[in-house]
Amino acid sequence: MKRVEIPEVIICVDCGQKAHRMTHEPEFGFRCGDWVAYRCSGCGDRWDMEVADNDQGADGQGG
Ligand SMILES: [Zn+2]
Repeated sequence: MKRVEIPEVIICVDCGQKAHRMTHEPEFGFRCGDWVAYRCSGCGDRWDMEVADNDQGADGQGG
């Protein structure tokens, strides 16, 4: 299973402040389709991001 790298901090699109990740990384790492929550340190908004695989077109059939 492929592991997806998730940033610990993102930039809030509302106020431009840093939003820190609230969701702890699972033992085997984040996977495509997981949801990660961030809390903005500026406006306090919560942001939910779906984990997406960066490499498009990788066909993992079989196995
Ligand atoms: Zn904000």
